Amino acid sequence: MSILLVVADVLDGELRPVNAQVFTVAARMGRTLGRPVAALMVGAPGLEAHAEAPGAYGVPRTLLIEDAKLAKYSPDVHAAAVAEAVRRVDAGVVLMAATLNGKDVMARAAEMLDAGLAQDCLRFRTEGDALVFTRPLFAGKILADVRVTAPPVMATIRPRAYTPEEAPVAVTVERLSVALPEPKVVVEELRQNASARLDVTEADIVVSGGRGMQGPENWHLLEALAEALGEGTALGCSRPVSDDGWRSHEEHVGQTGKTVSPDLYVAVGISGAIQHVAGIGASKCIVAVNKDPDAPIFTVADYGIVGDLFEVVPALTEAIKKVKASV
Ligand SMILES: Cc1cc2nc3c(=O)[nH]c(=O)nc-3n(C[C@H](O)[C@H](O)[C@H](O)COP(=O)(O)OP(=O)(O)OC[C@H]3O[C@@H](n4cnc5c(N)ncnc54)[C@H](O)[C@@H]3O)c2cc1C
Repeated sequence: MSILLVVADVLDGELRPVNAQVFTVAARMGRTLGRPVAALMVGAPGLEAHAEAPGAYGVPRTLLIEDAKLAKYSPDVHAAAVAEAVRRVDAGVVLMAATLNGKDVMARAAEMLDAGLAQDCLRFRTEGDALVFTRPLFAGKILADVRVTAPPVMATIRPRAYTPEEAPVAVTVERLSVALPEPKVVVEELRQNASARLDVTEADIVVSGGRGMQGPENWHLLEALAEALGEGTALGCSRPVSDDGWRSHEEHVGQTGKTVSPDLYVAVGISGAIQHVAGIGASKCIVAVNKDPDAPIFTVADYGIVGDLFEVVPALTEAIKKVKASV
């Protein structure tokens, strides 16, 4: 029987936290389909240190492709490594996180394999022997159920769509020796934004500011709120805020920015334009602060506070600090 292969997202030789979720989905899907599951790690020599990590989430086998050509991200070389591994082990289903790299690598590998790919999936289910994925389309306006008909079935899973579940198993590790092409393009350097706390796509809580903040000098209010909410909190913003250079584009949420799915999304001084809401629809709880009671953000918010953010946000921060201090 063909196996289910889950491709790890490796950045600078490290496994990104999002892998825990996708290993969990793979183990669960493997049980549902009755297929053996293996993880694939592709990168520069040294990956073996992480080879047992998938075992914590129920994935009992790791395949390693280590090559100096994979030290820096090269879209064509990474995709060629994934495609070759899929052929070698005859994978029938291939999963990866729907991160920027995940979506890029899987699209290229699918083209090399002439396979079908469902990107950015929120859920999966089976209908008979077939896998059906649910994914947002048209900036989140609809949720589509899609079935991949050109094998192997390839899919990327949206970060935070699933919660990691520990299910420890022993791991066997194998190396695959693959002839890789010379890179056509190499990412020479990745610069982390020095001020970035946590990426909005990976955070449990996102505190996001819009044009209502009136300027970058007022962001200390959101930073204090994020600090009070705790470690897993990231800062986000609407597009005009990043377009005007108040905040980095890394924090831009929405149709043309990042799609987030935190447990809590706090929208401060954001009107709730359709293009912004397209990026926050999968949030489990949305809290909006806006002085305009008719602002469209209130139609998607679970809790709305109508008021001046310059009064509401400090009060909210103090209240959260008090509650946290008392427990
Ligand atoms: C093709 C396209 C793609 C786009 N992609 C994106 C995208 O990815 N992400 C995105 O965000 N936008 C995107 N936009 C832009 C989008 O249409 C909106 O213009 C934008 O989201 C508005 O940003 P905002 O809510 O910060 O600002 P505004 O619409 O100006 O809203 C500011 C809000 O702050 C409130 N406010 C003002 N002062 C206070 C105060 N003191 N206290 C409380 N509330 C206050 C106001 O009542 C208002 O509701 C896109 C547009 C297009 C055409």
